[in-house]
Order: sequence, then structure tokens, then C-alpha cells
Amino acid sequence: MEGTGDFDRARHFAEQALAAMTSRGIAPTPHNSSVWYAHISVAQPDLSRAIDILDSNRIEFTPERNLDLYEKLLGASKEAEQIREAGDRISAAAGAVLAVLQKAGAGTQKYGEVLGQATERIEAEPIDADRLQIVVEAILDETRRMVAQNQEIVGRLAQSSQEIEGLHKQIESARRETMIDALTGVGNRRMFDMRLRECLQRTLEEGGDLCLLMADIDHFKKFNDTFGHQLGDLVLRLVAKALTEGVKGRDVVCRYGGEEFGILLPRTRLEDAVKLADDLRASIGARRIIRRGEARDLGHVTLSMGVSRYHPGEPSAHFVQRADAALYAAKRRGRNRVVSEAEVEAGEFLPAGRTKA
Ligand code: GH3
Ligand code: MG
Ligand code: MG
Repeated sequence: MEGTGDFDRARHFAEQALAAMTSRGIAPTPHNSSVWYAHISVAQPDLSRAIDILDSNRIEFTPERNLDLYEKLLGASKEAEQIREAGDRISAAAGAVLAVLQKAGAGTQKYGEVLGQATERIEAEPIDADRLQIVVEAILDETRRMVAQNQEIVGRLAQSSQEIEGLHKQIESARRETMIDALTGVGNRRMFDMRLRECLQRTLEEGGDLCLLMADIDHFKKFNDTFGHQLGDLVLRLVAKALTEGVKGRDVVCRYGGEEFGILLPRTRLEDAVKLADDLRASIGARRIIRRGEARDLGHVTLSMGVSRYHPGEPSAHFVQRADAALYAAKRRGRNRVVSEAEVEAGEFLPAGRTKA
């Protein structure tokens, strides 16, 4: 039974979570309630950070934003559970290795004792052939036992190391899974951050240019309002697919947030990145979106894009901010266009409150 302290604390968190949801006009559905309870009780620091950022930028908690938060919460707990399970299995495997090694230690000690006794007997007594024969047989017996035991140990260690290797792969794939966006199948924001760090590192080591393309669907709210969220989701999948198919294997396409994609282009000069961005923009904008089976023509979707080039040594945030400022300039100049960092005029900065959530 839970203590009164736990009960009171849980009730306090629940009341605060409800008050926080009410003041933001968020419906207290089971999903939303678990998100806000986790936030208030600071059970998920990543989730709380995301909510604090949204709050401080006065971003509205729309149903889809709430769903994103719920998925963030689920993703984090799923990862934690998988990693905890793998951790348990690793510690069991490590325990087995330890037991084998302890057994080996005991066996080696006994072998040493037998050898010691044999030497003593050889040295202490006037030795004859029969006695020597007995001593040698004792040593041989013990040696055979050791060989057999060692073979068993080698076998068991190989088995344990295989198990540990398997678990290592399992943890890796669990981690990768939490970096994939469930809707579109491309990397999510966590993947973007990780690949950005890798790309920066490689660029610093190998030289060459690294470019970043930020792409945002134009008037997507209107599309959702007109055709519904399900078709909006379909468009997000189509755009992710078109972007992925339109770049080379070493390039990285991630869903940066809502209807915004970040594309890292290693070993690409700014003018080539702008050209690629414009090809992507034109080819996506030229497609008619047709709902299969329904013969329903949903028209076109267009993208605005901003392109930046990494200036070696600068903080990664500056690199991202320049692409974002260029994207914002593309929106301001009429949308369905690409703007490079070189074309962003001084003073064409991001307005306060705009975030890339
Ligand atoms: P702009 O051209 O200035 O970018 O206008 P916008 O309407 O695209 O931008 P705004 O930021 O006002 O709205 C973004 C919309 O994207 C709101 C939301 O409905 C939609 N959206 C974000 N994530 C998802 C999602 O996962 N699925 C669907 N269907 N829509 C989403
Ligand atoms: Mg948009
Ligand atoms: Mg946007």
C-alpha cells in the first residue's frame, strides 16, 4: 500500500496538471493527462524542456502538437524500458562470465596445489621409478582435468560474448528506432541533431563544404483545414519520400518538426545546394496530389526553402539559424521559392516567438 505522502504528492501533481491543461485550453484526455502529469512531476526532462519552450514562445497547444508531445513521452518511456531490459540481460550475462572466471580461478588454484605437492614429493623423498610414475600420473590427471575445464570455459565465454554482442546490437537498434519519425519514416529531430554533429565533425576533419537546407510546406494549416489531418499526414509522407528520393545517399533528410524538414548536404557547395533545393522545390510543386482510390484531386503543395553553408568553427546553432532565417525570407518574399543565406538581407531576422517546433 502506498504511503499517505505518495498519495498526497500524486494528487498534488494531478491537480496541478489539470490546472495547467485547463489554463491552456487543453482537453484532459487520457493522452494529454499523462503528458501533463509527466511534465508537472518532471518525470521526463526532455518533455518538460519541450513544453517550457512552447510555453515561453506562447505557442498554442493544438491537438496535433499535443499528439506530438504524447509521442515524445511514449518514445522516451519505450526507449527507457528497452534499455532497462537490455541492461538486466547484460548484467545477467556479465554475472555468468564472472561465475565462469571464478570457477576457473578455483580450478587453477587446485592445479597449482597438485603441482606443488608433486614437486615436494619429488624433492623430499628418495624417488624411484614407481613413485615417479605415481607422481607423474597425478600431474597428468590434473592436467587433463584443467584442459577439459579450460575448453568448457572457452566455450562458455564465447557464448557469453555472443550474447553481449547481440544485446549491444539490440540497444543500438532500440536507440535508432527512437530517432525515426513514425509518420514519415525519415529521421526525427533527435536524428537530425545527431547527424548534424557527425557532419560537422567530418567536415572539420575532411574539409569541403557542408550545406543545410530547411524546407517548410507552404500554407499547410490551410491544407489541413480544407482536406483534414489524415490527408495532411499523407502529404507529409509524400514530401518526405520525394525529398529522400531526390538526394544522394550520403545526404540526410529529417523531419525537423511539424511540417518542416532539415536536409544536410555534405561535400556540397552553396550554389549546388541552392540548385538542388530548387530542383526539389520544382519537382514537388509540379506534382498533383491525388488520393488513390478516391480519384480526388487535392491540387499542389509547395515548399519554401532556406539554404546555409557551414562556416568552419562556428557553433552549429548559427548554421541552423542562417538556414532558418533564409527560409523565413523565402516565406516573406511570397513562398514557393528558395533563398540562400547569401541573399538574406541584414535586418531580415526571425521575428520573436517564431520557433521551428
Ligand atoms: P506557412 O506557409 O507560413 O508555413 O504556413 P503554414 O500554415 O504551413 O504554417 P503554420 O505554422 O501556421 O501551420 C503549420 C501547420 O502544420 C499546422 C498544423 O496543422 C500542420 N501540421 C504540423 N504537423 C502536422 C502533422 O503531423 N500532421 C498534419 N496533418 N499536419 C501537421
Ligand atoms: Mg508551413
Ligand atoms: Mg512550419
